[in-house]
Amino acid sequence: MMAAFEKHFDKLQFAILERKYDPKAGTNCACGAGRSLYRCQDCFTSISSCQQCLLRSHVDPPLHHIQRWTGTHFERTNLGDLGLMLFLGHSTSRCPNAPTNSNKRPTVIIHTNAIHKLHIEYCHCAHATDKPTQLSSAGLFPATTEKPETAFTFSVLKEFHTHTLSSKKSAYDYFIALQRLTNNVFPDRTYVSTLYVHSMRPYNPTFVWDLYREFLRVARVWKYLALTRF
Ligand SMILES: [Zn+2]
Ligand SMILES: [Zn+2]
Ligand SMILES: [Zn+2]
Repeated sequence: MMAAFEKHFDKLQFAILERKYDPKAGTNCACGAGRSLYRCQDCFTSISSCQQCLLRSHVDPPLHHIQRWTGTHFERTNLGDLGLMLFLGHSTSRCPNAPTNSNKRPTVIIHTNAIHKLHIEYCHCAHATDKPTQLSSAGLFPATTEKPETAFTFSVLKEFHTHTLSSKKSAYDYFIALQRLTNNVFPDRTYVSTLYVHSMRPYNPTFVWDLYREFLRVARVWKYLALTRF
């Protein structure tokens, strides 16, 4: 089987390495208003653009891996740090009744491709539901029913549930894989240096294990609902 691929190894390796470089990085963005310093690793076409174009193209989907061109190479950054907001209750638009000084709640969002952080602005309309319900309506399962600061996408809970049914993968192994998807070079540093920064929680060196415990709890609730309610 390997022999069939062997004569293509050079071309395959070149294609893989070619994806790590973009000759347009650092040049003027197509919009003409900024430099092409950012690119998305999850969009099918990975064309570099300026920060504003990148944010405009990721209002939906908001949970993609983003890289920034440093001048010599691309390094990981994230949409939350670049200013992407997640608006709930009005598709991708800001609630017209949200006060101008409303606190955007920093929230850790755990998805199938990584652990993200984004600022969320909730709907403030008279008919608005409570925050956990607004998260659920957006496909985000709140880690707690009181002032949630962590949410799990329905996709990640469904995927983990499928793994446990088909491969008996443990929650610990799945969570460690998510940690590596977030930062494969320094997985232990991921949470403290990147995710913790915008968390409202007081500093806690066991932050990562708090997330893991939340994952265990929510995965159990999801499993119960999957077996009994849907
Ligand atoms: Zn993307
Ligand atoms: Zn642009
Ligand atoms: Zn509203």
